[in-house]
Amino acid sequence: MNKIKNKYGFATKAIHVGEEPNFSDGATGDVVVPIHLSTTFARKKVTEPTAGYDYTRSLNPTRKALESKLASLENADFGLAFSSGLAAETTLVLALLQQGDHIVAFDDLYGGTKRLFNHIIINYGIEISYVDASNTDKVSKAIQPNTRLVWIESPSNPLLKLCDIKAVAEIAHKHNLILVVDNTFLSPYFQNPLDLGADVVLHSSTKYIGGHSDVLGGSIMLSDETLYEKIKYQQNATGAVLAPFDSYLTMRGIKTLELRMQRHHQNALLIAVFLEQHPKVNRVIYPGLESHPQHHLAKQQTTGSGGIISFEIAGTIDDATRFLERLTLFALAESLGGVESLIELPALMTHASVSKDSREKIGITDTLIRISIGIEDSKDLINDLKHGFND
Ligand SMILES: *Cc1c(COP(=O)(O)O)cnc(C)c1O
Repeated sequence: MNKIKNKYGFATKAIHVGEEPNFSDGATGDVVVPIHLSTTFARKKVTEPTAGYDYTRSLNPTRKALESKLASLENADFGLAFSSGLAAETTLVLALLQQGDHIVAFDDLYGGTKRLFNHIIINYGIEISYVDASNTDKVSKAIQPNTRLVWIESPSNPLLKLCDIKAVAEIAHKHNLILVVDNTFLSPYFQNPLDLGADVVLHSSTKYIGGHSDVLGGSIMLSDETLYEKIKYQQNATGAVLAPFDSYLTMRGIKTLELRMQRHHQNALLIAVFLEQHPKVNRVIYPGLESHPQHHLAKQQTTGSGGIISFEIAGTIDDATRFLERLTLFALAESLGGVESLIELPALMTHASVSKDSREKIGITDTLIRISIGIEDSKDLINDLKHGFND
């Protein structure tokens, strides 16, 4: 794995790792790894599983191919594929923490992560403190004697705040803590948290990694063998593995990850500039714009800003709703990271469960709109937005 990790560029790894043709006796030289649906594997000798395989929850050839591909994309030694991003998160927390432990988490985490922490994990006697981790000092101050994990996401959703991953990693390591980075929003193409000092990277592969809005999944990449063994043991013991067919679909998506991310970024930048110049727009949030307060940090720790833009339309929530309902190409839908453009109103959709007060306190106003820019023709997307504005 290490040899491949260092030898090839991103696109080559995305296409070849885990799918090297097998020319051994009886093998057929498939260029694409077959979908191994078998749940169990026969053996010739009682004590020797054939090629290490005995039961699909523990190890499956299609999932294994995906896992090595995933690892290579984050320059990691190990990868694990789960049935969803949240399944990966649950497995990770339960594998590494015990009753009485404490997590320092970014206060602007994905809503589903907060629900998992606040309504499920907390019942296991694990404590969570939320801090504005975009301010590194606040992370230091929140660390307690029982803290075990620091959990961040950069950029955040939908406000696209950045955390200085290198600085947070230094703080975490000074206190012997594990730093987990949810890297879903940028994909491994634009940001590699392990290279910046993080210990564990997590993705909802439902988003950019899969990329086609047709397969749910989660992934964990890391190079610490002890942590890997613990998480893998927990995954097998609790069962949140990715199905063989879904592993195949995810691999199929990964092969074009570089091309897709380049196009997402290119389209997003054009649209961010269009929105920033539009008289009916109050503000645009996109780390790739010089107007983003952390644009400098974005340039330091990422190689591109991805496809998510948030902007505030002038007027009331009704103006925002009218704008959204006039669009024809942008689908009015939650989720992100697919080839098709999606748009949503956090106040009434993804963040509807957050009270208006708390929403406004962190900056999610009633007219804040989040777009996941797809890879369509940018001119068609801009024309659709113009139509929405009634230009
Ligand atoms: C979607 C998402 C998740 C959860 O992933 P699922 O695959 O939906 O379970 C976690 N983190 C982020 C940043 C996400 O966008």
